[in-house]
Amino acid sequence: MELKPNQVRLMMLQVADAIIVAEPMLSQADRDLGDGDHGLGMKRGMEAVKEQLNTMEPSTVEQVFVATGTAMMSSMGGASGALFGTVYRAGGKALAGREFFDSEGLALLLEAALEGVMKRGGAKPGDKTMIDAVAPAAAKARESTALSLTESLKLVAQAAADGTEASKAMIAQFGRAKTLGEACLGFPDAGACSVTIMLSTMRDFVLGV
Ligand code: ADP
Ligand code: MG
Repeated sequence: MELKPNQVRLMMLQVADAIIVAEPMLSQADRDLGDGDHGLGMKRGMEAVKEQLNTMEPSTVEQVFVATGTAMMSSMGGASGALFGTVYRAGGKALAGREFFDSEGLALLLEAALEGVMKRGGAKPGDKTMIDAVAPAAAKARESTALSLTESLKLVAQAAADGTEASKAMIAQFGRAKTLGEACLGFPDAGACSVTIMLSTMRDFVLGV
């Protein structure tokens, strides 16, 4: 199973809708730890993504992901606009020259996304950021390249969910939650929740193809 550029476009439109629907949950997650703006920021970003992708006729997989990142970066503002923009722009560029999106492409995307976001934001695994969902997802994707995209995405989405769950036990070292210390125990990181929704929606999309 592999996706053509236009199917990747449709997948990302489904991801955008899922994040928009999850806005109240993401807002609450950020309210527990930060300033509460994460849900609305992501919603604004996903509306910009939809506007871009609705009319796009992509000829490469790279174009879809880079357009997603660019739309997020230019519409969301703040730390997470730059960071999520980097996830998709760096991830997309790693797919240059690939005609289809398959399980190897997923591993390349997530590895480059992880490297890009770590370089840009300076956080590392265990700091209670989106990296705690992206890093286990990237590792699982690399382990799963012999599987179909569908089977890989099932494992990758689960790894992101487990990483998000594990972030409940972490003390934040970055972002606004940093000042909370032990008060942030028990709550998952909001950005990690977003990453998990994105990857679960990709899984659901390929299950329906
Ligand atoms: P802001 O921090 O500007 O309020 P958001 O609330 O939209 O932005 O996003 C917060 C999310 O951004 C956090 O939950 C975390 O996942 C992510 N984040 C913050 N700082 C970093 C960083 N240095 N590296 C990676 N992710 C980060
Ligand atoms: Mg916030």
